[in-house]
Amino acid sequence: MGFDAIIPIIKNRCPLQIHKPLSKILDEFQANPDTKRGIVKKQPLTTDITGKMILLGTGTSVGVPAIGCRCPVCQSKDPRNNRTRASAILGLPDGNLLIDTSPDLRLQLLREKIGIAHAVIFTHEHSDHIVGFDDLRLFQFYLGHAVPVYCNVVVEKRLKTAFDYVFDDADKTHIGATPAIDLIRISHEPISILGVTVTPIPLKHGPNFDVLGFRIGNVAYCTDVSEIPAGSWELLQGLDTLVLDALRPDPHVTHLSIDQAVEIAKKLRAKQTYFTHCACSIDYHKVNQTLPTGIEVGYDGLSFELT
Ligand SMILES: [Zn+2]
Ligand SMILES: [Zn+2]
Ligand SMILES: [Zn+2]
Repeated sequence: MGFDAIIPIIKNRCPLQIHKPLSKILDEFQANPDTKRGIVKKQPLTTDITGKMILLGTGTSVGVPAIGCRCPVCQSKDPRNNRTRASAILGLPDGNLLIDTSPDLRLQLLREKIGIAHAVIFTHEHSDHIVGFDDLRLFQFYLGHAVPVYCNVVVEKRLKTAFDYVFDDADKTHIGATPAIDLIRISHEPISILGVTVTPIPLKHGPNFDVLGFRIGNVAYCTDVSEIPAGSWELLQGLDTLVLDALRPDPHVTHLSIDQAVEIAKKLRAKQTYFTHCACSIDYHKVNQTLPTGIEVGYDGLSFELT
């Protein structure tokens, strides 16, 4: 990109920096490895969530209410029976870490008045966890660089297939037409993200499907789980807060039922367990009344301390 093309971008995108000498701005611009993507920093309007985790969505893959469903929960006026697709965000020392990009990502972040995610990590590649991926494209302007996205090789393959236009080499029509993404491969090893250690928790999501939960300090997020493999139990000891899949009262091949989730929560003995990925067969208040102390149905917007 030549200077002629850069200068209008700087003028349009960077009102705060325009008071610097132009030579300095151009030096900085050229030194930035993302210059080729035309990313220049802007200041987002956002709430400070440092030290907190917020459940952005606690619903199953079709959401609650489900389209066309006649059931009482889908007709309920109680906002706690209104569940967007499963996702969470953590306010870490060096920024906000978004877990998954649900189809409802935009509305979730607007609802919570959160204007930026500094990094994203994926549990698995099912559609209800990745479809909001394109909405990451505003964050590159707020960060001033591509959005770091942490995922395993299976998720990476799906993202590159489902969002091929993000990763291809074709010239983009304009700046910000697609998300600028830095993919960072993860495995089962703990990894440092935004100033904390994130420990992946291998989990089963049905007999033939593997997903990752994540532990940060004494908080763990385990959605889309049907079984905790033998080697993962030790990674979930001593928790203050556990977010755990509990789809519905009846058993399901790829998710925990309420009874199964209660049994696991009792064994793990986190101080507090919240259920997520709940279907419309779970009425928030009715089911909560049946749960043991320290175990509750989660809801969209629920927040708690990171410990
Ligand atoms: Zn799901
Ligand atoms: Zn329903
Ligand atoms: Zn899933």
